[in-house]
Amino acid sequence: MPNLVYDFAAGNKDMKDLLGGKGANLAEMTNLGLPVPPGFTITTEACKVYLKTGSVPPELADEIDHHVDELQRRMGKKLGQADDPLLVSVRSGAAASMPGMMETVLNVGLNDDSVNGLAHQSGNPRFAWDAYRRLIQMFGKTVLGMEGEVFEDALEKAKEAKGARSDLDLDADDLKALVENFKHAVHEHTGREFPQDPRTQMDLAIAAVFGSWNSERAILYRRQERIGADLGTAVNICSMVFGNLGMDSGTGVAFTRDPSTGQQGVYGDYLQNAQGEDVVAGIRNTVPLADLEQIDKASYDDLMRIMATLEGHYRDLCDIEFTVERGKLWMLQTRVGKRTAAAAFRIATSLVDEGVIDIDEALRRVKGAQLAQLMFPRFDADASKEKIAKGIGASPGAASGKVVFTSAAAVEAAERGEKVILVRRETNPDDLHGMIAAQGILTSRGGKTSHAAVVARGMGKTCVCGAEELDVNVAQGTIKVHGSVIEAGEMISIDGTTGEVFRGEVPVVPSPVVQYFEGSLAPDAGDELVESVHRLISHADDVRRLGVRTNADTAEDAARALRFGAEGIGLCRTEHMFLGERRVSVERLILAETDEEREGALAELEPLQRGDFLELLAAMDGVPVTIRLIDPPLHEFLPSMEDLAVKVALARERGEDPGHDAALLVAVERLHEENPMLGLRGVRLGLVVPGLFAMQVRAIASATVELRSQGKDPQPEIMIPLVGAVQELHLARDEVERVLAEVGVAGEIPIGTMIELPRAAVIADQIAEAADFFSFGTNDLTQTTWGFSRDDVEGAFFSRYLEKGIFAVSPFESIDREGVGALVRTGVDRGRATKPELKLGICGEHGGDPDSIHFFHEAGLDYVSCSPFRIPVARLEAGRASL
Ligand code: ADP
Ligand code: MG
Ligand code: MG
Repeated sequence: MPNLVYDFAAGNKDMKDLLGGKGANLAEMTNLGLPVPPGFTITTEACKVYLKTGSVPPELADEIDHHVDELQRRMGKKLGQADDPLLVSVRSGAAASMPGMMETVLNVGLNDDSVNGLAHQSGNPRFAWDAYRRLIQMFGKTVLGMEGEVFEDALEKAKEAKGARSDLDLDADDLKALVENFKHAVHEHTGREFPQDPRTQMDLAIAAVFGSWNSERAILYRRQERIGADLGTAVNICSMVFGNLGMDSGTGVAFTRDPSTGQQGVYGDYLQNAQGEDVVAGIRNTVPLADLEQIDKASYDDLMRIMATLEGHYRDLCDIEFTVERGKLWMLQTRVGKRTAAAAFRIATSLVDEGVIDIDEALRRVKGAQLAQLMFPRFDADASKEKIAKGIGASPGAASGKVVFTSAAAVEAAERGEKVILVRRETNPDDLHGMIAAQGILTSRGGKTSHAAVVARGMGKTCVCGAEELDVNVAQGTIKVHGSVIEAGEMISIDGTTGEVFRGEVPVVPSPVVQYFEGSLAPDAGDELVESVHRLISHADDVRRLGVRTNADTAEDAARALRFGAEGIGLCRTEHMFLGERRVSVERLILAETDEEREGALAELEPLQRGDFLELLAAMDGVPVTIRLIDPPLHEFLPSMEDLAVKVALARERGEDPGHDAALLVAVERLHEENPMLGLRGVRLGLVVPGLFAMQVRAIASATVELRSQGKDPQPEIMIPLVGAVQELHLARDEVERVLAEVGVAGEIPIGTMIELPRAAVIADQIAEAADFFSFGTNDLTQTTWGFSRDDVEGAFFSRYLEKGIFAVSPFESIDREGVGALVRTGVDRGRATKPELKLGICGEHGGDPDSIHFFHEAGLDYVSCSPFRIPVARLEAGRASL
């Protein structure tokens, strides 16, 4: 059996899986010679045994004994030693950072005897009793499962009795009395005494930290962040250093660069005379880290030196927890720090300029999702704003709207065309419709993993949560904030990046990053973020193998996509070309009873279609444009059956002749389908309605000829949708080829198909015989593989499925690698087995999803196609996938 316990000096930063992130980095700092209080780490392996069996492995006790002995010898004092006790912290620390999800107990080792020793030794009885009350408080909460309020209330009462404003105003006697109180509370709530034996304290705390892996919030967080459920946490036993020994002591957090902008400088917070958790808990106000220079120059200088060492060593932004004990600096934690999207880009290129990392590494360190965030419009910084609260920026964006408090009100207002912000204390699955209808979501409770936050991020909707200053009363329809009241219908604005909430409508401006992509802001115009984005996306373009095309049906979208870097159109849907004024001709087509009538209707549509293609192909001159022949069922172009039936019935009741409507109703009824998604659409339609595909192909071919005659270089590709049998494709292809020959461009326009049915993927070897290219239609392929319709399920049960962990993310958003992905791989392999040079693309929504793009790269596709706004994301991720 390998060791279950490692001294800090025995590990390193690459041992995260075994020692957890905190333990591995404590080890790394120890070995860098930085001042880390000595200690040891109990491995995640021990935790796994605990989680499986409910008790720690039998050999663990001996190993801990051995390491405790070692630690006692090093520190020259013993656990529980009455005159000068060794105290330790028992700290959780998993491989993946799970901030605030698990537990830590400080000051382990204090008891009724040794508290006096500590008081005497430190010459500071107040400190000793404060440490003891903290131990009982944390132990009671974390290890004994007591409600934190029991202790917090008692502390409040003690302060009130004394007229004290902060805990600093409580003296040793007050704290001593509080300790008595706390011990009584422990007895009352758990039926046992607070354990006096230090080793018992330690063992119970270790088991509690292991157990906290499976706390409800930890489970939810892991599900959200897709962290494995069985990895377990390590436990760090770290000898205590004290920031609460007086004003010459303190504790703080620091960042080697500004985690919100990436700028170099001194960033962090410091709190004098405090223990670690006080900084995060916001009990007293911290001072900016820079003030430490005045407070304690020597410690400040030490810290600056250590920060430089750490940045140089980790080659990245680090965040740090430290404590100053009577003028001596101690390092308690470091890790490569979280940062905003803007900071990620700026830090990456700064580090390249500083010679710390190369440009490949810089590209690895930025993500498409971060780039997408930088492209959201933002509130105009110059506009006057009335800020009323600050919560947690849970899902980025800048949204304004009228306040509504219920899902129903949100839906109603949205139907009237009004912009609304849904405001709740917290949301639940029943609010989904309202969340969809709203511009943004604001809650007064809950953090980044609350329902509101998780669902909003999934929908790409702006969300601020946990704005605790707001007193939201849904029943009354009011928000009370700092003495004023906001009622339903009032305008507010929320910033999902900063978490700020404003009264009134704040004007928005396009992000500079979008201006750069649009070509209206030069990369060297002085905006450092834009310059970073430019450098990294240019590098991505240099290294990527995947092509990036766009989904666009209009010349306007196509032009934008080109500016954003699209290399062609991967999907032009032709159905919009049958809407609007053209409906009349479509109706005539559908109602036609003779060949003559049908041909007449088609002849009306053809020049209109040709006009569409002329525009589109001209806009995309010289690059491929994949045009999908008509896909949706015909009844989508007709009025609703219910409306029409009512109209006809009313006319008849009034004794009028329903005329045209009656004929239309017959057609609508004839075409009605229970499951249109699985009905007469795609190639089926083309094979059943004579002349329809031919008309479209003639329009494409003649537009091509015309543009060529103007000296242009149109490159259309014709794509047949929803093929499931090779015979379908042969028949459709024959017709397409016949028309191309008639127009005089035989063999000059590639003819391909969509792979969007499981059957097509499975028989792709046959289908490839009749196809010049494949484009995977992953939306339909997801629907048909799972057997659910996107329109019907997303509101109905997906949020439940996400909560239950059946999906970590909707399979419509990110490709289901195991199921749908396996079909894509099958399609690729079998298609290329028949035709090695077969061109392969993907044109579903997944084409713009970072994780899916990596999958398509691995699967060997030639290009992805996505909506114009996702093009930069796709370029960046395609580059990252190639590294
Ligand atoms: P978290 O992962 O929630 O930050 P930590 O294990 O880092 O939990 O500990 C919580 C707080 O206690 C931190 O501020 C940390 O710096 C402080 N702390 C932990 N161990 C010690 C110690 N041995 N001496 C002094 N402060 C400590
Ligand atoms: Mg910490
Ligand atoms: Mg489809």
